Amino acid sequence: MKNIFNSEKVQELKHLLNKHERIVLTCHMRPDGDAVGSVLGLWHVLRAMGKDAHVVVPDRVPRSLHFLPGMKEIAVNTQYDPYCTRLVNEAGLIIMCDFNTPSRQGDLAPLIQGASCDKVLIDHHRGPDIKANVVFSFPEMSSTCELVFRLIAACGYYGYVDKAAATCILTGLITDTQNFSVNCNNPEVYEIQMRLLEKEADKKQIVDEAIKATSYDALRLNSFALLERLEIFEKHRSAVITLSKDDLKKFNYQKGDTEGLVNMPLGIRGIVSSIFLREDNDCIKVSARSKFDFPVCDICSDLYGGGGHLMAAGGEFNGSLEECRELLISHFKDYDRFLPKNIEKLEIS
Ligand code: 5GP
Ligand code: MN
Repeated sequence: MKNIFNSEKVQELKHLLNKHERIVLTCHMRPDGDAVGSVLGLWHVLRAMGKDAHVVVPDRVPRSLHFLPGMKEIAVNTQYDPYCTRLVNEAGLIIMCDFNTPSRQGDLAPLIQGASCDKVLIDHHRGPDIKANVVFSFPEMSSTCELVFRLIAACGYYGYVDKAAATCILTGLITDTQNFSVNCNNPEVYEIQMRLLEKEADKKQIVDEAIKATSYDALRLNSFALLERLEIFEKHRSAVITLSKDDLKKFNYQKGDTEGLVNMPLGIRGIVSSIFLREDNDCIKVSARSKFDFPVCDICSDLYGGGGHLMAAGGEFNGSLEECRELLISHFKDYDRFLPKNIEKLEIS
């Protein structure tokens, strides 16, 4: 595995880890497999090193990730606000994983950003906009978990990786690459998987729980979404799914139930982008995916103040679901120039 790091930065990270006993690990809101996998994976390693480490997340972890070892030790800011505040205030070092801008932490952002302790950022989103003593920003990584593993190896901490840590870290690799189907052309991704399997990471459990498992309600909700709430905009090669609060209620929606839904229309031949608009309690959550390097991150940042990766991005809209949909449809034409050149020849079929 190639060393991708500046050695001074790795030394600075090691120095900070040696200096501090109390360490808080934190990630973005609506945490996914890569966010939780990276903080919990590092948490296991830091615990094995004898550190007083804690994981603080902005809001609840979806059920598909409850199998992760250490999950019960996570402090959730929306549930244990004073406890999270105490942990952050007592920390000498905060390690932020899998986000590039404070707003991705929602209500937890002022606490984390306001803390005057040492900080490290480990992330794979473009253009980090967060102050920290050391920033490890590598947008070319498949996942933050890949980056975390490389950092552990570069620091010489591989010996501290046990089965629990390996399972958490492999989870981020698997979920962010959709089980090794996107963003995984770098052969080293498979070397890292091999190293994690050598540590007995439970791949079967990860795939069963984080990728395949669903509930009856969730299966019905996703089926309903595809059958009744999917629109195809042929000219723009886009698929749009909208789910209202009422739709969600009808199927007893739980956090994480629509994970993966946005990917499904991308399977249609000739479709280049898929955008999912979901009416949450606090906003319309936008989730976008694409093929052929079509920049859905631009759509998310231009229209919804969000971002992410070129072909997997998200954002939020304050207003009605219909307004959110209208805004998107009225701007589709601005992005047609990014469609593949020979797209007319490709039938939607
Ligand atoms: P998802 O669609 O799975 O929620 O997110 C896809 C990608 O976009 C992830 O890398 C995620 O971090 C990013 N993303 C999702 N929502 C937002 C958002 O509201 N703001 C920004 N900046 N990025 C987001
Ligand atoms: Mn990620």
